[in-house]
Amino acid sequence: MIQAPAARPSTAVSAPAQNAPAQRSAYLNAVVEGERTKVAAAQRGRHNKTLFQAALSLGQLVAGNELGHADAARMLEQSAAHMVTADCDCTPRQITATVQSGLKLGATRPRRLDRDAA
Ligand SMILES: [Zn+2]
Repeated sequence: MIQAPAARPSTAVSAPAQNAPAQRSAYLNAVVEGERTKVAAAQRGRHNKTLFQAALSLGQLVAGNELGHADAARMLEQSAAHMVTADCDCTPRQITATVQSGLKLGATRPRRLDRDAA
């Protein structure tokens, strides 16, 4: 999943805490969890659109080197598992295709969280 930031030597004292890797990582987690929650809560009729928007959002983070492509795809597909069993036309194949096309479009608009948070 998401890698924890490498531990830093504790000798340096003067660096201000804002934008520390640990905080950025927590922010990334929050963003990812937010998208997963939206996908998991998507109602019938909004499955494809919600999943695509989430994949687009995570695809931007993949392009910004915040997140791995395979991780993003796996997390989205996990969160979308309920769509396959719901009373609608969603199929695993369609979900995979939606995730991939969302990630692909997101890749054209890279997003870095540290710049967002500043
Ligand atoms: Zn569906």
